[in-house]
Amino acid sequence: MTFDPSSAFRAEVQDDFGPTGREPCLGGQLRDKAVWVDESACIGCRYCANVATNTFVLEQYLGRSRAIRQDGDSAEVIQEAIDTCPVDCIHWVGFEELDELRSQLEELDLQPLGKLPKISKRMKPRNK
Ligand code: SF4
Repeated sequence: MTFDPSSAFRAEVQDDFGPTGREPCLGGQLRDKAVWVDESACIGCRYCANVATNTFVLEQYLGRSRAIRQDGDSAEVIQEAIDTCPVDCIHWVGFEELDELRSQLEELDLQPLGKLPKISKRMKPRNK
Protein backbone atom coordinates (compact mmCIF):
# COMPACT_ATOMS: atom_id res chain seq x y z
CA MET A 1 0.00 0.00 0.00
CA THR A 2 1.40 3.39 -0.96
CA PHE A 3 0.65 6.70 0.70
CA ASP A 4 0.28 9.90 -1.28
CA PRO A 5 1.73 12.74 0.87
CA SER A 6 -0.05 15.37 -1.17
CA SER A 7 -3.36 14.12 0.27
CA ALA A 8 -2.57 16.18 3.39
CA PHE A 9 -3.10 19.32 1.31
CA ARG A 10 -6.42 18.12 -0.07
CA ALA A 11 -7.99 17.21 3.27
CA GLU A 12 -11.06 19.21 4.15
CA VAL A 13 -10.70 21.77 6.90
CA GLN A 14 -12.79 21.05 9.93
CA ASP A 15 -13.90 24.26 11.56
CA ASP A 16 -15.90 22.82 14.44
CA PHE A 17 -13.46 23.69 17.22
CA GLY A 18 -16.14 24.52 19.76
CA PRO A 19 -16.25 23.26 23.33
CA THR A 20 -16.04 19.50 23.64
CA GLY A 21 -17.74 19.28 27.02
CA ARG A 22 -14.57 17.96 28.62
CA GLU A 23 -13.24 21.38 29.56
CA PRO A 24 -12.78 21.77 33.31
CA CYS A 25 -14.98 24.86 33.41
CA LEU A 26 -17.80 22.80 31.93
CA GLY A 27 -17.50 20.12 34.58
CA GLY A 28 -15.97 17.60 32.21
CA GLN A 29 -13.54 14.77 32.81
CA LEU A 30 -10.46 16.90 33.17
CA ARG A 31 -9.39 18.05 36.60
CA ASP A 32 -11.62 20.87 37.76
CA LYS A 33 -8.84 22.78 39.52
CA ALA A 34 -5.55 24.09 38.29
CA VAL A 35 -2.35 24.00 40.30
CA TRP A 36 -0.68 27.31 41.03
CA VAL A 37 2.62 28.24 42.70
CA ASP A 38 2.76 31.51 44.57
CA GLU A 39 6.29 32.31 43.45
CA SER A 40 6.52 35.27 45.79
CA ALA A 41 6.54 32.83 48.73
CA CYS A 42 8.51 29.98 47.12
CA ILE A 43 11.95 29.39 48.64
CA GLY A 44 13.23 27.24 45.77
CA CYS A 45 13.73 24.05 47.79
CA ARG A 46 12.77 21.84 44.78
CA TYR A 47 10.66 19.39 46.80
CA CYS A 48 7.64 19.82 44.55
CA ALA A 49 9.71 19.43 41.37
CA ASN A 50 11.15 16.19 42.71
CA VAL A 51 7.70 14.78 43.47
CA ALA A 52 5.60 15.94 40.51
CA THR A 53 8.33 15.96 37.89
CA ASN A 54 6.03 16.60 34.94
CA THR A 55 4.32 19.58 36.54
CA PHE A 56 6.84 21.72 38.42
CA VAL A 57 10.16 23.15 37.31
CA LEU A 58 12.45 25.66 38.95
CA GLU A 59 12.36 28.75 36.81
CA GLN A 60 15.92 29.30 35.59
CA TYR A 61 16.39 32.98 36.39
CA LEU A 62 14.33 33.39 39.56
CA GLY A 63 15.06 29.94 41.04
CA ARG A 64 11.43 29.61 42.09
CA SER A 65 9.07 26.79 41.24
CA ARG A 66 6.45 27.11 38.54
CA ALA A 67 3.70 24.79 37.31
CA ILE A 68 4.51 24.43 33.64
CA ARG A 69 1.54 22.24 32.74
CA GLN A 70 -1.74 21.13 34.22
CA ASP A 71 -1.96 17.62 32.82
CA GLY A 72 1.52 16.32 33.58
CA ASP A 73 0.81 14.35 36.78
CA SER A 74 -2.19 12.86 38.52
CA ALA A 75 -4.05 14.89 41.12
CA GLU A 76 -2.71 12.53 43.80
CA VAL A 77 0.91 13.17 42.81
CA ILE A 78 0.34 16.92 42.67
CA GLN A 79 -1.35 16.80 46.08
CA GLU A 80 1.69 14.95 47.40
CA ALA A 81 3.89 17.74 46.01
CA ILE A 82 1.65 20.32 47.67
CA ASP A 83 1.97 18.49 50.97
CA THR A 84 5.77 18.50 50.76
CA CYS A 85 6.00 22.26 50.28
CA PRO A 86 7.50 23.70 53.49
CA VAL A 87 5.98 27.14 53.00
CA ASP A 88 2.54 26.10 51.67
CA CYS A 89 2.82 28.17 48.52
CA ILE A 90 1.23 25.68 46.08
CA HIS A 91 -2.52 25.97 45.73
CA TRP A 92 -5.44 24.51 43.83
CA VAL A 93 -7.19 27.36 42.01
CA GLY A 94 -9.81 27.73 39.31
CA PHE A 95 -8.50 27.61 35.75
CA GLU A 96 -10.18 30.94 35.12
CA GLU A 97 -8.07 32.53 37.88
CA LEU A 98 -4.70 31.66 36.31
CA ASP A 99 -4.38 34.70 34.03
CA GLU A 100 -5.13 37.13 36.85
CA LEU A 101 -2.69 35.38 39.20
CA ARG A 102 0.04 35.45 36.54
CA SER A 103 -0.38 39.16 35.96
CA GLN A 104 -0.32 39.83 39.72
CA LEU A 105 3.01 37.99 39.95
CA GLU A 106 4.48 39.98 37.06
CA GLU A 107 3.72 43.21 38.90
CA LEU A 108 5.73 42.08 41.93
CA ASP A 109 9.16 42.32 40.25
CA LEU A 110 10.50 39.26 42.09
CA GLN A 111 14.23 38.98 42.70
CA PRO A 112 16.22 35.80 41.96
CA LEU A 113 16.76 33.51 44.93
CA GLY A 114 20.27 32.82 46.11
CA LYS A 115 21.95 35.45 43.99
CA LEU A 116 23.36 38.77 44.99
CA PRO A 117 21.91 41.79 43.22
CA LYS A 118 23.85 42.80 40.13
CA ILE A 119 26.03 45.86 40.46
CA SER A 120 26.66 47.43 37.12
CA LYS A 121 29.94 49.19 37.92
CA ARG A 122 32.40 48.30 40.60
CA MET A 123 34.06 51.18 42.36
CA LYS A 124 37.83 50.85 42.25
CA PRO A 125 39.81 52.13 45.20
CA ARG A 126 41.76 55.27 44.44
CA ASN A 127 45.50 54.93 44.11
CA LYS A 128 47.39 57.30 46.32
S1 SF4 B 1 8.09 22.86 47.48
FE1 SF4 B 1 7.23 24.92 47.73
S2 SF4 B 1 8.98 26.18 48.39
FE2 SF4 B 1 9.82 24.29 47.58
S3 SF4 B 1 10.27 24.76 45.41
FE3 SF4 B 1 8.20 23.86 45.48
S4 SF4 B 1 6.83 25.61 45.63
FE4 SF4 B 1 8.87 26.34 46.16
